[in-house]
Amino acid sequence: MVFTAHMSTAQVALDDHNPSGLRHNKARILILNSYHQGYNWSDSIMQGVFSELDDINSYELFVEFMDTKRYSDSTYYELLKNVYLYKYKNLDIDVILSCDDNALNFLLQYRDRIFSKVPVSFCGINDFHPYILEGKELYTGVCETYNVVANLKLIERLHPNVNHVVVVADVTKTGQDMIAMMKREEGKFKDKLHIDYLINKEPEEMKTYLNRLDDDTVVIWGIYLRLPDGNFISSEESISLITSYTSRPVYCIWDVVGLGVVGGNITTPSFQGAEAARIVKRILKGENVSDIEIKESPMLYKFDYNLLKKFNIPLDAIPEGSVIINKPASFWQEHKRLAITLLSVFASLITVVFALGYLYRKSKRVQFEIKSKNAKLLQIRSKLLRTNRKLEKSKKRAEESVRLKTAFLANLSHEIRTPMNGIIGFTSILQESNLNEEEQKLYLDIINTSGQRMVRLIDDLVNISKIESGTVELHYSEINLIPFFNEINFFFSKEAIDRSLSLEFVHELDDLVIVSDRNKLEQIFYNLIKNALKYTRKGYVKFGYVRRNELVEFFVEDTGIGVPIEARKSIFDRFHQVSNGDSTKGGIGLGLSIVKEFVEMLGGKIQFASEVNEGSRFYFNLPLDKG
Ligand code: ADP
Repeated sequence: MVFTAHMSTAQVALDDHNPSGLRHNKARILILNSYHQGYNWSDSIMQGVFSELDDINSYELFVEFMDTKRYSDSTYYELLKNVYLYKYKNLDIDVILSCDDNALNFLLQYRDRIFSKVPVSFCGINDFHPYILEGKELYTGVCETYNVVANLKLIERLHPNVNHVVVVADVTKTGQDMIAMMKREEGKFKDKLHIDYLINKEPEEMKTYLNRLDDDTVVIWGIYLRLPDGNFISSEESISLITSYTSRPVYCIWDVVGLGVVGGNITTPSFQGAEAARIVKRILKGENVSDIEIKESPMLYKFDYNLLKKFNIPLDAIPEGSVIINKPASFWQEHKRLAITLLSVFASLITVVFALGYLYRKSKRVQFEIKSKNAKLLQIRSKLLRTNRKLEKSKKRAEESVRLKTAFLANLSHEIRTPMNGIIGFTSILQESNLNEEEQKLYLDIINTSGQRMVRLIDDLVNISKIESGTVELHYSEINLIPFFNEINFFFSKEAIDRSLSLEFVHELDDLVIVSDRNKLEQIFYNLIKNALKYTRKGYVKFGYVRRNELVEFFVEDTGIGVPIEARKSIFDRFHQVSNGDSTKGGIGLGLSIVKEFVEMLGGKIQFASEVNEGSRFYFNLPLDKG
């Protein structure tokens, strides 16, 4: 449906203001909005306007919000007129974009006085009737229109059980046009819907009729603003009247959604804003205003959530893309800020948790590294301690061996000097001629004993050096033990008598023959018996053997001073002598170490038992045969 404004041309208006095009660099556009910012409908229209006037630097914009939702008395309008007169008296506006009814009505009344005949592009006209432009020039724009077919189809869709539609209308031109259209289209629905028209009825009459409506009926608020007496009521008043008369759903074909109707197929505000802005641009380009038709806005489905609920109309039944007002905000919408804060706190916490986790893992790694390094350090420490202990031992051993070496040298010198002095001393005495035979024999015996002592000492030194160099050789032969020990007994008998000790060879009755190294066995017994005699003051020294199957146990036993406990461990060590306070015994600490080496070479192991001041027993086993 197309309305045509009563108009002259925009060019005329531009020429009046600006004979050579614009008298200023940029086109001056005044946007006159009926309401205020923050009012959804107005904001939506403005959004449409600015989506089209996006090249904002090309224009000089003047925007006035009349705020007539809050102030709408005649005094206020008078004041507004005076303000605008004052502001725009000397300012040439090239085109006015008017939003909503109040702005257009204001312009229709005052434009010529305030702005002269400036072209006007209007939109958001809720209640547009072409007759309002009668006698007015340079007005064009977008008007809200209606689509009766879409609304009847919508009723069919949402109310399958409804077969009766009552259309409420007045006899304004819009009302009559709408009824005419409805009647033209109703044939399309004749099988399904019966349509009744309540046209130009008094409210009371309307009430009586609407009160009686059955469940199979819905109402369409066609347009009912002029009462039969000629007075106008507002859309709010009208809808509140109708909805109070009936409990049946009321639909609309104009945008009165929110005033008590369920909804309907209606026009969109943002499109209207955009279309009005497009018209402004066309006018500024010089297009003739009379050539610019007043446009109808496109349609959309719009519903009131509360009324959908009230009449149990499921949300999934309404057409896709419908606008629903009064819909309770979802939790997300209602608590968007809180949710965003919580989400960011949560995100921060997660980050902190991850950071802590990372730090924890890192500290664990560091701890592990420290632990393993610690364990390594402990290992190194115990190794060092071990090494230290070994070094201490080695040091002690070294010190001990130095001490032993010194003692050995001192002993050796003593052991050489004593027999040498004897030999030299008594030899020179022998050279004197006045010695009797007995004296000579005594002195020769002493020289002989000293010589033997020297030989034994040298034997010891040779033996130990052979042992050290590993050049000891064994010479096996049969040894008859009784004669062997008788010889030894005989050898030491004099010394035993001299020391007042009993010397006893203990043996079995039958002779026993073993295969061994005679010299070594002799050396062993010589050293053991020598020591036994040396370290025994009274009592006896016994030696001999006992057969034990294939072995022979040899022994030397005395009733001497015994070996102190602390000396027992090292008694067989080389150069080792027990400090027992008796330094007159002599010796160089090699006797027992040679005994031990020889016993082991012959296949035995020497052991001893000793009690201090009671005596000692040295014993070892040897095999009967070498092999
Ligand atoms: P030495 O030549 O000094 O006698 P040995 O090796 O024969 O050296 O003996 C080592 C030490 O063992 C002697 O100094 C002595 O103190 C001790 N010893 C050896 N045999 C006996 C024993 N029968 N009774 C007591 N102590 C003994």
